[in-house]
Amino acid sequence: MSIHRVLILGGTTEARELAGVLAERSELEVGLSLAGRTAAPVRQPVPVRSGGFGGAEGLAAYLTSEGIDLLIDATHPYAAHISANAAAASDRAGVPIIALRRPAWQAGHGDRWHQVDDARQAVDILGAARKHVFLALGRQELLPFEAAPQHAYVIRSVDPIEPGLSLPDATYILARGPFSEAAETELLKKNAIEAIVCKNSGGAATYGKIAAASRLNIPVIMFRRPDLPDVPSGASVAEVAGLAGHWLDSAARRKRGV
Ligand code: NAP
Repeated sequence: MSIHRVLILGGTTEARELAGVLAERSELEVGLSLAGRTAAPVRQPVPVRSGGFGGAEGLAAYLTSEGIDLLIDATHPYAAHISANAAAASDRAGVPIIALRRPAWQAGHGDRWHQVDDARQAVDILGAARKHVFLALGRQELLPFEAAPQHAYVIRSVDPIEPGLSLPDATYILARGPFSEAAETELLKKNAIEAIVCKNSGGAATYGKIAAASRLNIPVIMFRRPDLPDVPSGASVAEVAGLAGHWLDSAARRKRGV
C-alpha cells in the first residue's frame, strides 16, 4: 500500500476535525499547518507545523520538499491571503487542492444587519452618539475603533489584546468558542449592548451572538467576506473528507493503470 501525504492548512475547528477523520485512513499521512498566532492552540490529532511559509512561493517549495500529495485549505473564511497562496502554490507545485469553504450566515427576517468592508466603515455606522458596543474581532481589526473613543466597548478575543487599545471605556474578555445563544444573550443584556461588530464567520460555534442579537433586536455590523479563489471545495468536514476519498481512489486507480 502506498502512503499519500496530506497537508491541511488549519486554524479552525473544521481543520482539526478533518485531520482526525483523515488520520483514520491508514493510507494517509496527515499533517496540519497553523499560522502560529494563538499563544496556546488547542491540541490537534495529527503532527503540527507552525508559522508562515513565505508566500505562495514558499508554500509551493514546502509542498515539493515534503512530498505532499494533496493540499487542503481549511483556514478561516477571512484568512484570504493564505487561501490565495494555497491556490497559487497548488498550481505552481502541481499538487491538487481541496478547500473547506464554510457557508456564510444569512440574515433572517427582521435581522438588523449592516454589511461593511472594514472597521473604518463600522466606526462610521456606529456614529457620534455614545453606545455600548460588543466587538468580536481579532487584534488587526480593532485599531480603527480608537478613532471612536466615545463608545463603551466590550472586546472579546482568544488571545489578550496587547498592548491594550487607547480607549477610555473598554472591557476585555478572553474566551474561546463555542458560545451558546443563552450565554451570549446574558452577555449582551448584562453589558447593555446596543450594537455588535463581527465577521460573518459561519458555522455554529460563534452563531450564538447572532441568534441572541436577533432575539434582542440588536443591530449587527458585519464585515463582508473576502473573495476566495475558486478551487474544488466542500462546505463541511464530511464533504471535504468525501472529496479527499475520491481523490485517493482515483490516485490508486492511476497507480494500477486503470
Ligand atoms: P491571512 O491573512 O490569510 O494570512 C496571513 C499570513 O499568515 C499568510 O500569508 C501566511 O504567511 C500565514 N498563515 C495564515 N494561515 C496559515 C496557516 N494555516 N499555516 C501557515 N501559515 C499561515 O490569515 P490570518 O492572518 O490568520 O487571518 C486573517 C483573518 O482571518 C483575520 O481577520 C483573523 O481574525 C481571521 N481568522 C480568524 C480565525 C478564527 O476566528 N478562528 C482564525 C484564523 C483567522 P506566509 O505568507 O508567510 O505563508
